[in-house]
Amino acid sequence: MDISIIKDILQVCRRLDQKGLVNAYEGNISVRQNGLIYITPAGKNKAFLDEEAICVLEEGSLKQIGGKFPPSSEVPLHVNSYQTRSNIGAVIHCHPPYLTAFALDHRPVKTKAYPEMMGNFKEIPVAPYGRPGTSDIFEPARKYIEKYDGVLLANHGILVVGKDVYNAMNKAEAMEAIARVLSIAEQIGKPVDLPDDECAFFLAK
Ligand SMILES: [Zn+2]
Repeated sequence: MDISIIKDILQVCRRLDQKGLVNAYEGNISVRQNGLIYITPAGKNKAFLDEEAICVLEEGSLKQIGGKFPPSSEVPLHVNSYQTRSNIGAVIHCHPPYLTAFALDHRPVKTKAYPEMMGNFKEIPVAPYGRPGTSDIFEPARKYIEKYDGVLLANHGILVVGKDVYNAMNKAEAMEAIARVLSIAEQIGKPVDLPDDECAFFLAK
């Protein structure tokens, strides 16, 4: 068990809480390292977790070997993400307001107006609905998470993967910021698309 990973998760929990991306009942954060999965507990406010609150599971058996609370009900979502993407070390699932609004609308986050979105993420697709808190949630998302680092889960929230927990956090924050800007741009007017060759430059990055 690596205490520095637990400390990293706690730091990310506090940051995502401050940013309004997680709360007591929404959002779970995990790290995979050396055959162990470290994950936030079920139903606890992310702002007030301490080191003993982070659950540690053996990756294969999912036997809990650390943490004083039961793990998030979304353990299958995290475990399946790790099984699907061998190159990732962290998973964040949360319900940020703007991204979740897109997920409720079954609307992918994509644009020809915002180079930041095209260059960093190309598109955030929507995976069909799977019931939250069950293993059904992941199967519709599998083919998307093979290709994308962020996938909207229809009628639910977002799944973000990264090489480490800070990398996943940065992506989740950036994706929410982009979804927010696109929403506001549509509220106050109509986003103006860039020419196709300019879009192609960013989409190829
Ligand atoms: Zn959720």
